[in-house]
Amino acid sequence: MERTFDCLVIGAGYAGAVAARELAERGGKRVLVLERRDHVGGNAYDCLDESGVLIHQYGPHIFHTASKRVYDWLSRFTQWRDYQHRVLANVHGAYMPVPFNLTSLHMAFPAEQAARLEEKLLSAYGEGARVTILALRENDDPEIRAVADYVYENVFVHYTMKQWGQTPEEIDPATTARVPVLLSRDDRYFQDPYQGMPLEGYTPMFQKILDHPNITVELGVDARDRLELTEQGAKLDGAPFAGTVIYTGQVDELFGFRYGRLPYRTLDFGFETLAMDRFQPAATVNYTVSEDYTRITEYKQLTGQELPGVTTIMKEYSRAYTGAAGETPYYAIINPENNALYEKYRALAEGCGDLRLLGRLAEYKYYNMDAIALRALELCDGLLQK
Ligand code: FAD
Ligand code: UDP
Repeated sequence: MERTFDCLVIGAGYAGAVAARELAERGGKRVLVLERRDHVGGNAYDCLDESGVLIHQYGPHIFHTASKRVYDWLSRFTQWRDYQHRVLANVHGAYMPVPFNLTSLHMAFPAEQAARLEEKLLSAYGEGARVTILALRENDDPEIRAVADYVYENVFVHYTMKQWGQTPEEIDPATTARVPVLLSRDDRYFQDPYQGMPLEGYTPMFQKILDHPNITVELGVDARDRLELTEQGAKLDGAPFAGTVIYTGQVDELFGFRYGRLPYRTLDFGFETLAMDRFQPAATVNYTVSEDYTRITEYKQLTGQELPGVTTIMKEYSRAYTGAAGETPYYAIINPENNALYEKYRALAEGCGDLRLLGRLAEYKYYNMDAIALRALELCDGLLQK
């Protein structure tokens, strides 16, 4: 018997999976999820590599949020490993906490000078303040500016050039603001109240989210082969589809790059499996002054997996996304010109029936996992009120 669906969701990452579950469970809708890859989870997907190490195929993912709603919602589908992410910068061979904090300050400057600088910084900004590197460089006090210059040179400028091909001044200021200078001795990468790693991994969590009688998931399906968008509305497999369509992929691709390509950065991942228990002093080490990769992540330190004698590390190399086969667009390049191009595509989408753009790609934004989960919940709040 043929199944008919009330809603179509394209993509089974955070955006698609959370939305599908809400529509199916809270709204009683029959939902079809089409996913191009051969797995669910989007870029948060994890799996065992050949040596049995649990890896994140598309880059290291650490869950953190200030949203109790998101944390409670996801906690229905996973238990958590208590994990607080810590990152060290390798600065000419010395390991220094990132975000640059008061501990880093005392590593960077001689004791007496560091004590004086600490006092100055605390009286200028207050204990616990989060000061962006760009703001710190604007400070009137030459001694504070000297700290800013040190941090700029040793933490930000080379890493940012590798990651974006541009300087911190040239990129969206919200990007470097993600990693402020932190006026405390808290050496965690994130200060959110809820942090952790899914105890069994991300993929089992996604499988549980999508495991609902009203949800059908089809993997290995490019929605563009099944879906047609016209001003009269959507067609699924050639037949008119009146329901809501939630699209979580690239919006320029959806419209055949009609106005040109939206620019992205992509990453090449260098995985290496080594015959040792542990490779480096923190789960992630950022190479802020040397190397052509940005960072190395050692997965066992993220996941807590016990596997003696073997470890897998991953180096990240960033470059411009060209759209070639096999490349993944990982980071939108936020600037006024690209945002204007995005707006043209968004306007096109508005003329296509009940089509909703949701997610890091479809909204052309730099969203973390929790932000996308919250957007999906809120979109469904609106849809289910109709
Ligand atoms: P995606 O995960 O990209 O999912 C979109 C899905 O849609 C994909 O599976 C894709 O295959 C599918 N799709 C696209 N087009 C089609 C089509 N035409 N037909 C069918 N399917 C299609 N966030 C954090 O909170 N913490 C972190 O530590 C963190 N680390 C990150 C590290 C890296 C290297 C990167 C790139 C991102 C990181 N993020 C992190 C961000 C996180 O990956 C995103 O917030 C999240 O994956 C966004 O989910 P999404 O559903 O919007 O997109
Ligand atoms: N950044 C940097 N040095 C660091 C860490 C971050 O210059 O050691 C800058 C860089 O521009 C980076 C941005 O801050 O792209 C955001 O860093 P984050 O770790 O949040 O990036 P993501 O994990 O999303 O790649």
